[in-house]
Amino acid sequence: MITPLTLVGNQCEVHKYHWPVPLRTVKHHIHPQEFGGPTTPANLVKVCDNGHYSIHTVLDALLRGKTPPKSTRRERQLAELGFTMIQTARGAR
Ligand SMILES: [Zn+2]
Ligand SMILES: [Zn+2]
Repeated sequence: MITPLTLVGNQCEVHKYHWPVPLRTVKHHIHPQEFGGPTTPANLVKVCDNGHYSIHTVLDALLRGKTPPKSTRRERQLAELGFTMIQTARGAR
């Protein structure tokens, strides 16, 4: 089930300071839902659409063993954290 929780006027946790202010933020699952990540506060971060897209693009590249595109440090950290969690979950199976 995909339920993007839209929160108006919330802070983006990957960029912090935004101009213009993001119109919305979405809750990103650090350990992605499609890889079994839980919907718990510890696994969620509020990010703007740009940041969200960027995290998933980097994560996708990591999963395919490709060179990730340019991103901010925090976007990359979150993608790498998700990647590590996916690998750990795979190893535990
Ligand atoms: Zn996401
Ligand atoms: Zn942002």
